[in-house]
Amino acid sequence: MSKFWSPLVGELKPYVPGEQPKMRRLVKLNTNENPYGPSLRVLEAIRQQLDDGLRLYPDPESEQLREVVSRYYGVASDQVFVGNGSDEVLAHIFQGLLKQDKPVLFPDITYSFYPVYCSLYGVESRLVALTDTFEINPDDYLVPNGGVIFPNPNAPTGRYLPLSEVERIVAGNPDSVVVVDEAYVDFGGETAISLVDQYPNLLVTQTLSKARSLAGLRVGLAIGHRDLVEGLNRVKNSFNSYPLDRLAQVGAAAAFEDEAWFDQTRKRVMAERDRVTEAMTGMGFEVLPSTANFIFCQHRTMTGEDLAARLRERGIIVRHFSKPRIDNFLRITIGTAGQNDELLRALGELTG
Ligand SMILES: *Cc1c(COP(=O)(O)O)cnc(C)c1O
Repeated sequence: MSKFWSPLVGELKPYVPGEQPKMRRLVKLNTNENPYGPSLRVLEAIRQQLDDGLRLYPDPESEQLREVVSRYYGVASDQVFVGNGSDEVLAHIFQGLLKQDKPVLFPDITYSFYPVYCSLYGVESRLVALTDTFEINPDDYLVPNGGVIFPNPNAPTGRYLPLSEVERIVAGNPDSVVVVDEAYVDFGGETAISLVDQYPNLLVTQTLSKARSLAGLRVGLAIGHRDLVEGLNRVKNSFNSYPLDRLAQVGAAAAFEDEAWFDQTRKRVMAERDRVTEAMTGMGFEVLPSTANFIFCQHRTMTGEDLAARLRERGIIVRHFSKPRIDNFLRITIGTAGQNDELLRALGELTG
């Protein structure tokens, strides 16, 4: 606490990102990064951009990138908003769209950045409990609210809500914005972007950090009705006119132009996820059905905390949350086949 802080700063409980350890030769399965590298076309596009032009500010509107994204998803480019990682996009959404007279609703077990933005921007919130099987029940969101936000698939559970159920939440809330955070949708889910022309209250966010393997480039996006996008632009242009640098704009655009690499790598991740799930189930784990690039699991007899500590001794880092309802669970990112083999070997020894 410093006397120089504004009163708000003393009250904040900031988000704690998963550790980025300095040690080498770790099997790092704690922050849902993609185990495969980005498309070579992305690297080439960034290399091409490395010249004297860096002395100039980037395009504040990221027009070319927004064009590429709009063509990719079949929407108009004024329905596309881009930001410095989807975390920044989400921040603008909380401040510009979800701060209303009534509380915003989100699941009790979900992405832990949501409550952080609520306290930063003074947004009132109400937690909606997931079912006993950690599922979202759409009926729970059909009550008066100032907005709704949930990841689909949800994090850290990995559980997916079918598009028809997402639509029920959107259709049942015509007077508030429903945000579907699709950070993990490309690992087997179906995007709600197909519904944005039908529902002016629907906003879908995505990131290039997971399925497109560009967590280090920091690019996220939102797609919805142009009025929602215009609202976000008003916030963005009151905060930072140049959220995406020159390298990020060209690199992100190139990522959408290499469908083959995108498809190949996400399919490998999905196949490995199913293999790891089956092997761990055989070791006495309950593994929630996942549509993401991670699994959420607990062991019949060993605690999550103990398992995480013992894996760490063997150089394998996974994520454990000391939170109600899920403090016995581990969230484990799906790695390369080799990394997953190491994980399974270690778990076999620890649980055998
Ligand atoms: C990873 C993640 C994000 C943030 O992605 P960035 O684009 O890297 O900021 C947003 N939402 C959820 C649910 C995530 O897991």
